[in-house]
Amino acid sequence: MSTQPSPYDILFEPVRIGPVTAKNRFIQVPHCNGMGYRDPSAQAAMRRVKAEGGWAVVFTEQVEIHATSDIAPFIEGRIWEDQDVPALARIADAIHEGGALAGIELVHSGLNAPNLYSRETPLSPSPLPVATYTADPVQARAMTKADIADLRRWHRNAVRRSLQAGYDVIDIYSGHAFGGFHHFLSPRYNLRTDEYGGSIRNRMRLLREVLEETMEEVDGRAGVACRITVDEMIGDAGITRADIEEVIGELGEIPDLWDLVVGSWEDDSNTSRFGPEGESEQYVAGLKALTSKPVVGVGRFTSPDFMVHQVKAGILDFIGAARPSIADPFLPNKIREGRLETIRECIGCNICVSGDFTMSPIRCTQNPSMGEEFRRGWHPERIKVRGSDSRILVVGSGPAGLEAARALGVRGYDVVLAEAGRELGGRVAKEARLPGLSAWIRVLDYRAQAIGDMKNVEVYRESPMNREDILEFGFEHVAVATGATWRRDGVARWHTHPIPVDPAADVLTPDDLIAGRRPRGNRVVLFDDDHYYMGGVLAELLAKEGHEVHLVTPEARASAWTYNTMEVAKIARRLLNNGVHLHLNTTVNAVRADSVETANAYNGAADSLAADSVVLVTARLPEESLFQDLTGALELGQIKTLRAIGDAYAPSTIAAAVWSGRRYAEEFDTELAPNDDVQFRREVTRLAETY
Ligand code: ADP
Ligand code: SF4
Repeated sequence: MSTQPSPYDILFEPVRIGPVTAKNRFIQVPHCNGMGYRDPSAQAAMRRVKAEGGWAVVFTEQVEIHATSDIAPFIEGRIWEDQDVPALARIADAIHEGGALAGIELVHSGLNAPNLYSRETPLSPSPLPVATYTADPVQARAMTKADIADLRRWHRNAVRRSLQAGYDVIDIYSGHAFGGFHHFLSPRYNLRTDEYGGSIRNRMRLLREVLEETMEEVDGRAGVACRITVDEMIGDAGITRADIEEVIGELGEIPDLWDLVVGSWEDDSNTSRFGPEGESEQYVAGLKALTSKPVVGVGRFTSPDFMVHQVKAGILDFIGAARPSIADPFLPNKIREGRLETIRECIGCNICVSGDFTMSPIRCTQNPSMGEEFRRGWHPERIKVRGSDSRILVVGSGPAGLEAARALGVRGYDVVLAEAGRELGGRVAKEARLPGLSAWIRVLDYRAQAIGDMKNVEVYRESPMNREDILEFGFEHVAVATGATWRRDGVARWHTHPIPVDPAADVLTPDDLIAGRRPRGNRVVLFDDDHYYMGGVLAELLAKEGHEVHLVTPEARASAWTYNTMEVAKIARRLLNNGVHLHLNTTVNAVRADSVETANAYNGAADSLAADSVVLVTARLPEESLFQDLTGALELGQIKTLRAIGDAYAPSTIAAAVWSGRRYAEEFDTELAPNDDVQFRREVTRLAETY
């Protein structure tokens, strides 16, 4: 490690958060992880890795303070009663073991809590339907003064339990329309006419009371932070900049740290398709001047220079990160040690967010070890050394092949990576050229850089491999990462058998468009039965190129699965603004020479749409011919091991392909449990004594 002064030294200055001192300016701000109360040890191991990677403070996700704050089916933390303390203590202990301060984010979810598990009546400033993603048919009751007194007491209880659990920083959540104080602050949700409603002074009353009581309860034993939405992004209907200037003007000196967020979670965790790094600067700049206390903010920061700018320009004191810390838990250490080229930059895809939305353990496109620290013992920077001096051939350099080659290389194996084409990266290199997806190239960049530094990994481009080549070169261990191709027969979810396609029709697949082919006519029908990003991205591409695009989908929303990445509304807006015609709840049943036959997805009502060309975004077929050819060689004992990985095994997300490559590398030369058994560690609920 260099002892020379570095332009990044400013990022490693200690900063006080009330009674505790952060060793540097990096804070892993609270982030959900789909593990929460269900998988506490998995979360503990994940947070420990973050701490080990150099973050000064590592937070939990939002932790519900009471049974009226229950946001089931989503899985967050819970500190409802004393029996929740040991799990949270385990997380705090793990963070301490990693060398960071442990932070906890306390939430009373208010109008965001449908209480589907607890069946308590939701509490809110005003009697409104709950504000949840799932539009639950539940209404909240307007809080009485007695309810407010209860809430304040519950908060104190949660603060006391947080201290018992060993937390050093306690964050009071008033952001993203998730934290209940947000609902009090916002004229959108606060329709009260008593001293808790009306003017911003009144609307901040409850937040003030809770902050003051938290300071009193903490009594110098921990730092106190306040996480607050600085602009609700809906004009005067919501929390405005002027409101928040008044809030920080009034309450600015009460907590030890201000944690500034923008709008809703969708606004704050924007994907790279819809916004650049540091997008929130415009909303956060200037607020620091209103308080003597430090401020932290986020911006999908991965550029150390940009981080330095945030501090030097007086915008932030702390660099906050959720996603960049997920993609690279060792980001601070890598900057400190001057190993910038080894940073695994977040690509801004929000696959991590999909873990929360699908209530499954967090995953990350860039960091396949995310969520696997406890379950499989994976680590973002370390992997066990090789178990033999085998030489391994990896065929195909998409995300699966790249990650397999990289991780095997780190293990110390001699690896040959053979790629048929001239460029590396497979689908990532190609898809990164589509509108809005340029940051995805980082999946290749990180791995190409890592592989380039390894003498034991050889890369051969323009090297299509077949069985004869492989046997001739004497490879004994082969990973087949040859990817997949998009189908052109309509098979996907709606149609599980091919649909009639007139040979005279101009039919294109995503592969054709990515390879540069274009529709022969102006009027294009795009049938999306995939439902992730590809259909919407290609509709956008063709519309921008001047085509009249009709997107037909059996789902009720375009790119419906992107609900899980918080992009679905943004995609619809962009498509409509680009003139794309949406035909929702509609399927394509046949492709004719100059039209498609459609049917309503509910009642089958038949119709047709004129089409010069048709784009089918349906299922993909694994490219498994090489794998099948080699199966014979394996049976004959001509090779020793053979595995298909990534899309060549079963087409899925880029994140799944990277994970599959990592799994191959982890399991190579490893004695595995029989696959009748679960292949990873689980934490099973402890039974109550009686029932
Ligand atoms: P994944 O997502 O599983 O990594 P991709 O489709 O992104 O799969 O990448 C597959 C890569 O494999 C492509 O770059 C493709 O050119 C390459 N490939 C396919 N068949 C062969 C082959 N027989 N020999 C070498 N490379 C191949
Ligand atoms: Fe970034 Fe995507 Fe990883 Fe989330 S899943 S941290 S957005 S690379």
